Amino acid sequence: MWEVFLARAEIMVLGAGIVGTSVAIHLAKRGLSVALIDRQGVGEGTSYGNAGIIEGNTIFPPAFPANLIDLAQIALKRSPVVNYHAWHLLRVAPWLNAFRIASRPVQLRETARLMRPLFERAVAEHDAIAGEAGAERYFNRRGWLKLYRTDRAFAALAPEIDLAAALGIANVPLDRAGALELEPGLAADFRHAVHWTGAVSVTNPLALTRAYAARYAVLGGIVLTGDARTLHRTGPYWRVETETGPLDAHEAVLALGPWAPDILELLGVRLPLAVKRGYHCHFGTKRNAALSRPVLDAENGYVLAPMEQGIRLTTGVEFAARDAAPTPVQLDRVLPLARKLFPLGERVEVTPWLGARPCFADSRPVISRAPRQSGLWLALGHAHWGLTLGPVTGRLMAEMVSGATPLCDPQPYSADRFAR
Ligand SMILES: Cc1cc2nc3c(=O)[nH]c(=O)nc-3n(C[C@H](O)[C@H](O)[C@H](O)COP(=O)(O)OP(=O)(O)OC[C@H]3O[C@@H](n4cnc5c(N)ncnc54)[C@H](O)[C@@H]3O)c2cc1C
Repeated sequence: MWEVFLARAEIMVLGAGIVGTSVAIHLAKRGLSVALIDRQGVGEGTSYGNAGIIEGNTIFPPAFPANLIDLAQIALKRSPVVNYHAWHLLRVAPWLNAFRIASRPVQLRETARLMRPLFERAVAEHDAIAGEAGAERYFNRRGWLKLYRTDRAFAALAPEIDLAAALGIANVPLDRAGALELEPGLAADFRHAVHWTGAVSVTNPLALTRAYAARYAVLGGIVLTGDARTLHRTGPYWRVETETGPLDAHEAVLALGPWAPDILELLGVRLPLAVKRGYHCHFGTKRNAALSRPVLDAENGYVLAPMEQGIRLTTGVEFAARDAAPTPVQLDRVLPLARKLFPLGERVEVTPWLGARPCFADSRPVISRAPRQSGLWLALGHAHWGLTLGPVTGRLMAEMVSGATPLCDPQPYSADRFAR
């Protein structure tokens, strides 16, 4: 616990998104003195703007398109699901090739197997922290609904539904009438649906991360404002500059989401992390229409998620440099479709929010020691599932740091897999 002054902790966690905050809680629970450091407020990075779905039901990650029509649509920039900045594709060509290889059916099955230990605990680990933090009020337990406009898209789901049955992951395939019974506010603009009943959604991801940070403070943890780019070694410590002066710690965890490479490169650690950018905007509703749960329009890659701020419309993926100017063309493409599907009202904010999903090509995060840096740990690359996997990552990381038996074999999430 904190002793005489705040300048030294046993461990510092850099990055107070959902991942870093969850790591900090689990470390504090194990009795360590912990400092959580961010350059802005808790939860204001990527963790602010997601679709809010705790997708413990995830089986296969999104894959590189195998269908030539889909690929041509993307290449011609007509796809609502994927957009790209042309020059950026050259920069990420090796990543895209690795993603293509990882998207072969046999590899997808392997990813599903390796990720299951994390996904199967995702909801329970959130429940454990939210229970202590008094944050259950942000949870909606009505699952989430995926809509399919074509028979082809629905038929392509067969391997996922089969595997879900084998793994005991609850879902209910529905026809149009069945889905409309669940969500009467939707228009009959689709043919099939699947209701993933075990998923939990969050009505305010920012408030949830803040509530988790408040719980961490009750456990004795402190939050400081500082820039992780100042991280360096000084004797046996890692040191970072904060607004209240330098902070030293024996160990450091980097949980910087899409910003991790900025610091890793300064330390000579190179990991093949790319970003898939995404946008959101909030809308009111017309005619008192309501959505009871998040809804995915599968072929168009957008989600309509009921949030405290309104209906949050999140887009698919944009391959572009993390800091390049926003180009929210996907919002323009999907908005007419979304308005037809559900009576969205006035737009709440003029400027769309832009975030960057931190992604490795194999769709697995890194939760491990950093290569060649003693006392440095990494919790990053959670891609489409950072909200989902934050708490389970926090637990696994704290178990590894404290030498406890890990909840599962952490090898699939090791940074060493990129050294081969
Ligand atoms: C449109 C969209 C929809 C999504 N939907 C979902 C969903 O429904 N479910 C789901 O599970 N996931 C979803 N995700 C993914 C999820 O949001 C991310 O995986 C997750 O937020 C990553 O969390 P993180 O803590 O790793 O990163 P972040 O939340 O980005 O946290 C990193 C922190 O590091 C800080 N930082 C950066 N640089 C520095 C520095 N130099 N010094 C100090 N601090 C620094 C930042 O301020 C930030 O707070 C979605 C993402 C997007 C973009």
